[in-house]
Amino acid sequence: MTEPFWQRKTLEQMTPSEWESLCDGCAKCCLHKLEDEDTGDVYYTDVHCRYLNTDNCQCTVYEQRQQKVPHCVWLTPEQAHEFFWLPDTCAYRLLAEGKPLPSWHPLITGDANSVHQADVSLLGKGVSETQVNEQDWEDHIIWKA
Ligand code: SF4
Ligand code: SF4
Repeated sequence: MTEPFWQRKTLEQMTPSEWESLCDGCAKCCLHKLEDEDTGDVYYTDVHCRYLNTDNCQCTVYEQRQQKVPHCVWLTPEQAHEFFWLPDTCAYRLLAEGKPLPSWHPLITGDANSVHQADVSLLGKGVSETQVNEQDWEDHIIWKA
């Protein structure tokens, strides 16, 4: 049996649709991050972009996201060496580190909801940036990348 594309191809060899399908829809990359300038360590907060709908984990401005949010994450295979700052459940980071996809990944389950059922998404979680002053983000740190 032929291995699935994410096992037999490198990130650079994937087609655009294969690349897109790696995203599990967790929305954790829509969280604001803080970087320790001395160590370079990256910390995630539970404060998310104003355009994220946490009722369904969808971006409400997906087609215009680069215009609306200049720092919105746009991943490319060429950046793979920088993926250490992504959530440790993110397929792009996992594959860049030579690790397998988790059993709940939609590519394995065939069900887009499996990421929510496994409780690794932002569904129903977090707080919008419209509700928290930027100087208070430090109080909202939830994990280190
Ligand atoms: S963290 Fe990774 S898997 Fe989750 S939404 Fe962002 S790019 Fe997709
Ligand atoms: S613009 Fe959309 S995809 Fe980008 S960070 Fe905000 S909610 Fe996430």
